[in-house]
Amino acid sequence: MLVYIYAADLFCSDCGEAIRQQLTRAGMAPEAPDDQRSYDSGEFPKRPYPDGGGESDLPQHCGAGADCMNAIEFPDGCRVGAWLENELTADGVEYVREAIREGGEVAELWAEFYCDYEL
Ligand SMILES: [Zn+2]
Repeated sequence: MLVYIYAADLFCSDCGEAIRQQLTRAGMAPEAPDDQRSYDSGEFPKRPYPDGGGESDLPQHCGAGADCMNAIEFPDGCRVGAWLENELTADGVEYVREAIREGGEVAELWAEFYCDYEL
């Protein structure tokens, strides 16, 4: 999935776009939002980064967390940001294996998401 980078975090497309609109309405958008070299991702979300931001040492979820527009909701009402569909590094695979051993709903999701890996 295409993701946005903003304030040192990754966001799903919908949240990234929403943040851009909010900042634009608040008059905080850079002069040339389409010239991404003209501003820092700490000021305004940059887009789009393919494949969930690329390989990572852990599964990436939208930085908006429970407020994510595409949040994943568990039966107990707990919400996490949308999964960004990133690939895993060797460390990432180890991280997910460990999480699955420890159990929990998020780990079960990761086991499904990353079923192509030997977990
Ligand atoms: Zn989101």
